[in-house]
Amino acid sequence: MTFEFTATVLGSPRIGPKRELKKAVESYWAGKIDAAALESVAETLRRENLKALVAAGLDSVPVGTFSYYDHVLDTAVLLGSLPERVQHIADEKDRYFAAARGNDTIAPLEMTKWFDTNYHYLVPEISSTTTFSLHPQKLLDELKEARALGIPARPVVLGPVTFLLLSKSIDDARLLDRLEDILPLYADLLKQLADAGAEWIQIDEPALVADRTSDEIDSAKRTYDYLSALETRPAILLASYFGDLGGALPVLASTGIEGLSIDLTAPGTVEQVAAVPSLATKRIVAGIVDGRNVWRTDLDRSLATLASLLGSVGSLAVSSSCSLLHVPYTLDGEDGIADPLRSWLAFGSEKVAEITVLARALRYGTDAVDSELSAARAASATRRADPRLHDASIRARLDAGLSVDRSSAEERRRSQTLGLPPLPTTTIGSYPQTTRIRVARAALRNGEIDEAEYLRRMKAEITEVVALQENIGLDVLVHGEPERNDMVQYFAEQLNGFAATTNGWVQSYGSRCVRPPILFGDVSRTGAMTVDWITFAQSLTDKPVKGMLTGPVTILAWSFVRDDQPLSESADQVALAIRDETVDLQAAGVRIVQVDEPALRELLPLRAKDKEHYLRWSVRAFKLATSGVADSTQIHTHLCYSEFGEVIDAIVALDADVTSIEAARSHMEVLDDLNRVGFDLGVGPGVYDIHSPRVPGVDEIAESLRAALKAVPAERLWVNPDCGLKTRGAAEVEASLRNLVEAARSLRE
Ligand code: GLN
Ligand code: ZN
Repeated sequence: MTFEFTATVLGSPRIGPKRELKKAVESYWAGKIDAAALESVAETLRRENLKALVAAGLDSVPVGTFSYYDHVLDTAVLLGSLPERVQHIADEKDRYFAAARGNDTIAPLEMTKWFDTNYHYLVPEISSTTTFSLHPQKLLDELKEARALGIPARPVVLGPVTFLLLSKSIDDARLLDRLEDILPLYADLLKQLADAGAEWIQIDEPALVADRTSDEIDSAKRTYDYLSALETRPAILLASYFGDLGGALPVLASTGIEGLSIDLTAPGTVEQVAAVPSLATKRIVAGIVDGRNVWRTDLDRSLATLASLLGSVGSLAVSSSCSLLHVPYTLDGEDGIADPLRSWLAFGSEKVAEITVLARALRYGTDAVDSELSAARAASATRRADPRLHDASIRARLDAGLSVDRSSAEERRRSQTLGLPPLPTTTIGSYPQTTRIRVARAALRNGEIDEAEYLRRMKAEITEVVALQENIGLDVLVHGEPERNDMVQYFAEQLNGFAATTNGWVQSYGSRCVRPPILFGDVSRTGAMTVDWITFAQSLTDKPVKGMLTGPVTILAWSFVRDDQPLSESADQVALAIRDETVDLQAAGVRIVQVDEPALRELLPLRAKDKEHYLRWSVRAFKLATSGVADSTQIHTHLCYSEFGEVIDAIVALDADVTSIEAARSHMEVLDDLNRVGFDLGVGPGVYDIHSPRVPGVDEIAESLRAALKAVPAERLWVNPDCGLKTRGAAEVEASLRNLVEAARSLRE
């Protein structure tokens, strides 16, 4: 009989409540601390996390979820499959970080989004010559460390099917064929973990919540038939999260695994569980507390859901829907968030507390948690009644059915008289965020300078950037975005309906963290947000300066969003605020407005059946944001960070007069894709990659432009870099842009 735990989470944040790991890792990279110092920071963070989880009342605690950089990279290490180009590095940490970040001579692994979250993982590379071998030391050490503290530890690994499905095939080898090579390693691992005292192991298979071929589902079945048939092993908890297992659910349930975690925050999962008879012998780990959002759980509703499951499954434990990696650590110290908003929220530690409350209620009845239930009810009552969530004037404007269509592209083209040369040159928005800018922002925050001095300094930056662009000879200028800490946070701070945290950091990748704003209410502007900056920049030059805004989809994608209304409604509200801003910019004499949507691809749902709906509302929101202006105002948009295949029709539907798009790394392929779907508006494929400090030569840029001209007629082609320049150094930016302008000029002749 295996130990029947009742309350757990699927994983924890690891960057540290005060970003201790980030700081330690970066110091280590800079050579300021040694490996021992780094390890000691890591060990303290792990221990404190474990102890806190047990103290809160969890009776099974995940271990092995700690990572110095990324858990998928850790899995590649576990399976001995780091790419050949780092294998010669003798020091284990140096090798690991070289694979993660590269160095002067070694390219790092590619990085991409972890399902539909804002976390990014490193993509393991597998070729037909890759060999696998087991390196379980990290996991065994962390298990031992936890057990020594008396923690009811449950080792966690990424499952073999997901590992292979997330990897990249270097020579077109079929990745799932490699299952035969890695399954014996997992078998060995399970045995070693059982010998080391693990009663349960959690094997994560989130890839199974996306659309999968029958081949892939068969592979999953084969995997879990095999692993569950092993003689010496811990009980297996197969963890699914980020959605419903769909057709994979009955298949997995038919294997000999002991437990299965189900994301109960995903629509339809309760019914799916009830419909699979073989779950009557399994332990279901109920992912009822949302691990990806920041809202307090509706305990009454959750208890009703859990109660409805009790009859159809073997036994039940309460958990988070996914790892708590995706939410901030705690509300403690968030003194800037006042009640009642604060009472509506639950970050990591508050979610753990909710899980234990639900588990206690299941075990001892609701009387045992009476005060917690009352508190949750009171919070939800104030939330429902709060006037900030129901702004009648915003809703009336949206209900009035604003038109989201502009005149035909041809009509707009005729009225947009900007006097630009063919192949106009421009940049994407930001210029280098220099130390000077950061110092000024910090000084304002700490009260060392006042608002007026801050304004003066930012205007000095803008003056410099405008002069630089004129000197370089660019045709359409930008103000450089010095006043923006971040392209979403900057707007969230000014809009009604958003709140900011002081310490709500969430790991984005490696040592990089973000602090997403919280969208809690109806959205509106308190006034113009960007007009003063843009008109100031425009006053310095006769060339057109682009107004620069972030689009509604990107603002939502990089925030924690409301869960009390569909995302599409929140998108429309944000879009309306952006629309108001475009109209104000136009009234102030701005002739080009760029509305960035780099995250358009990011929010695309995992399952095909949900994609169309998403694309419909996201395109509509963008059009709502950009259709309030006259024909004579030219709308630009900017897209990046992705392969655009699945959103290519949506790009056409955005109907922006000019679309700048990341293209340098994929050799302008996106232009052919756009042609195939009949795109006939202005397009600026990035002619050089801004992710590297390298200065592209004139010939090289001209070469890219010639390639672009094969796909796009000169009247529609714009010349610009791949993305904003804020992370680059001033000298390389200037040199690159001079070459870009020269290349455009040479082609004009
Ligand atoms: N306008 C933004 C900038 O240049 C766009 C950034 C982005 O695409 N991520 O920084
Ligand atoms: Zn970009």
